[in-house]
Amino acid sequence: MSVQPLLLVAGILLILIALLDLSVRVRRIEKMLCRETELLRRALRPYNHCSSYSAMTAYSIWAYQGNKWVLKEKCGQADCDCGPPPSRPGQYQGEVVKKECPGGSES
Ligand SMILES: [Zn+2]
Repeated sequence: MSVQPLLLVAGILLILIALLDLSVRVRRIEKMLCRETELLRRALRPYNHCSSYSAMTAYSIWAYQGNKWVLKEKCGQADCDCGPPPSRPGQYQGEVVKKECPGGSES
């Protein structure tokens, strides 16, 4: 009967180690994703930094076509029309930008 508590402790330890390992992996993936997002953001908006990245921020994707911005992808927020389009004109046909939505919770 005295073996059981030991097994329990060992089991809990194993779970803790697994969780720790998982969180390290998740953090590594996050850092990787963050770096890519950072590059994209830096290209689009020079003053943003990765630390301000939030999963809650909503973005819409706009493409510059026929001398105007066309909404390519909505941000996914239920009651958001994702307007207005980016204020600056596109630099070339087919330019794609990511725009923070006014309905985004970060603003
Ligand atoms: Zn939107």
